[in-house]
Amino acid sequence: MEFRIVLVPIGDIEQNLLEKLKNELSIIFHPLHVTISDAISIPKGAFNPKRRQYYSSPFLKALIKCVNSKTSKFLGITSLDLYTNGLNFIFGQAVIDGGVCVISTHRLRPEFYGQPYNEKIFLERSTKEAVHELGHSFALKHCPNPRCVMFFSNQVLDTDLKSKNFCEKCQSQIMRKQSYKRIDD
Ligand SMILES: [Zn+2]
Ligand SMILES: [Zn+2]
Repeated sequence: MEFRIVLVPIGDIEQNLLEKLKNELSIIFHPLHVTISDAISIPKGAFNPKRRQYYSSPFLKALIKCVNSKTSKFLGITSLDLYTNGLNFIFGQAVIDGGVCVISTHRLRPEFYGQPYNEKIFLERSTKEAVHELGHSFALKHCPNPRCVMFFSNQVLDTDLKSKNFCEKCQSQIMRKQSYKRIDD
């Protein structure tokens, strides 16, 4: 069975972003295949009116419901502002070494920081956060190398400074995963 990465729009996500992510992830996670699934709806009960943000756990749970095969990683994409316990916000979250992860594009838009619309910067940031969360789903931990995509982003400046690629150490760790080995069978 061929191993895949499946992009799952949660709510309304622009097609351009999905296509761009598909292309970038196909290169970075080569030879894994990347596909785009139908959108799923925003999980009920995730909105916290006091914070005016969305709790991330219901998003991961909604994605787990999509998991229909052990040979896929499901990456949810939402434009809503996510948070989790103890953090003001999160760019994304993953089940470490699991089948699902999610990213929020809310704080990746330059407009969020009062800057003009910039598609290139937005797409670059989205790619980095997608690769980062998928890296966690392939069991990678945070990396101390600030250029490595697995470096922890505390703020969007950290995201801008790191590259969209794994450092040599993280890359070799990911290539040892069973999902990659299966490709050669
Ligand atoms: Zn992380
Ligand atoms: Zn690294």
